[in-house]
Amino acid sequence: MSALDPRLQAAIDEYPADTCYKQVGGRHYVITEYSLMDDGSVTVQIVHGSDSTLPGVSAFGCSPGELERCDCGLWEPPTDEQILETTQKIAAIGELRKLGVNDVN
Ligand SMILES: [Zn+2]
Repeated sequence: MSALDPRLQAAIDEYPADTCYKQVGGRHYVITEYSLMDDGSVTVQIVHGSDSTLPGVSAFGCSPGELERCDCGLWEPPTDEQILETTQKIAAIGELRKLGVNDVN
């Protein structure tokens, strides 16, 4: 195995994946992936937990600097029911967008 790029390693050291994070607004995440961008910055992929507004949703390209370490250890993956609900919610938002309604969340 080749050594990790030091920028990636630094991000992993600073924002380890073995804990939980919060963002402004109180959403609760875990990090699932680290990516080195062309400009040399590191972004992370995060997943919303069962106590978030969009449980089960992954977000790519997030700046780890926007995350606050939470460390409560209570992050829980979404339940199957929540994943189904989220899927329906996103489908509904997609339908609204098709109708020209953009102010949805
Ligand atoms: Zn937490």
